[in-house]
Amino acid sequence: MNSQNDTYFLREFVASHKKLFDKSNEKFIYSFSNLACICTHMAYLLMFQVLHVKELVIFNIFSVFFYFVLLILVRLGKSSAALLYLGDIEIIAHAAFATHLLGWQPDFAMFFILIIPATFLTYTRKIYVPFIISAVSLGLFLYYKITMDYNADVKYVFEDNDVIKAIQITNAVIGVFVMLIAGVSNIFIREYKEFQLVDQRETFKEQASKDPLTHLFNRRAMNENIRSIRRDCSPRSQYIIGIGDIDNFKRINDTYGHDVGDKVLVYVSNQFINFIPDGGYAARWGGEEFLFVIPNASIEKGVAFTEQIHKMLRSHVFEIDDVEFGVTMTFGVSKGIPVDKIDNVITTADKRLYKGKNNGKNHTEYTD
Ligand code: GH3
Ligand code: MG
Ligand code: MG
Repeated sequence: MNSQNDTYFLREFVASHKKLFDKSNEKFIYSFSNLACICTHMAYLLMFQVLHVKELVIFNIFSVFFYFVLLILVRLGKSSAALLYLGDIEIIAHAAFATHLLGWQPDFAMFFILIIPATFLTYTRKIYVPFIISAVSLGLFLYYKITMDYNADVKYVFEDNDVIKAIQITNAVIGVFVMLIAGVSNIFIREYKEFQLVDQRETFKEQASKDPLTHLFNRRAMNENIRSIRRDCSPRSQYIIGIGDIDNFKRINDTYGHDVGDKVLVYVSNQFINFIPDGGYAARWGGEEFLFVIPNASIEKGVAFTEQIHKMLRSHVFEIDDVEFGVTMTFGVSKGIPVDKIDNVITTADKRLYKGKNNGKNHTEYTD
């Protein structure tokens, strides 16, 4: 895998992660939370029906309907933290109403406390919202603590201990599920948002370092690449720099048009991307001029690379609107050692390219 291909590999990696963490998965998390709430309230509905707690049966019918509306909103693309907060408020309201009617014993007040970490786990930029919801929840908890004894004379008092135990266990299990869903959604959504940021950063970095037409490195990024190769070069090794220029490119533009010229540039660039040896980089250095650098290589290796490009170009026939034509290139190749100034190595390659142009083009020059 060469360095040029490394970045393409990274793009593929980002693309595959995009599939893993895309918007539909975010939607799935929100839908799943709502579905879980619908199921929970259906279970409560059934339980309160059996226990003949009419008010809470009605409340839970409302809750099922409420989460159903939220589910539809998520399906319509409104997968925002606001919907999760509405869910938190519903949980608090349910806990308050149930505590008001049934007292402390069935443990509905537990949800006042449990909702606090859950609300902070909801991923949001509006950081004050969890504080407000928590304050309301804690306020209600304290209100009931202050105003209501443990054995208060509430509207519904269950004499059967097993019934109380059953409600307590149901609430504990549901409480654990609320926390689990809040935790898992938090991990997933956070991962997704983080990935989006990394993806954006990589895209910007790539846009800043690549030539948009050919996807080769631009001149600025290439200067950086060469500097890093020179820096990492061991004192006794050398690196190779080559400059290639398409022969008679102006004629191609003039004969077939600028668009065809662009297609030729893309084809030539792809050959650089495909054949550049491991650790090497290729750049669009100017209009139809390309520069490559290969670390830890002999001049023969650099020339061999240019021969590969020559071979590919000589065997390729461009076919545009029933006209066929071929393209050739001329290269100048030079070697650099760590003490050499990069500009001098580039100038030598450039002079050799110029020599090649004067010596009939379509070949590589590597001596002065
Ligand atoms: P030589 O063999 O000596 O290199 O001749 P040449 O015609 O290739 O060189 P010259 O410098 O005369 O022409 C280069 C042409 O490349 C001129 C310019 O319009 C064209 N060119 C530069 N950038 C682009 C581009 O992005 N797309 C297209 N289609 N043409 C470009
Ligand atoms: Mg040219
Ligand atoms: Mg040129």
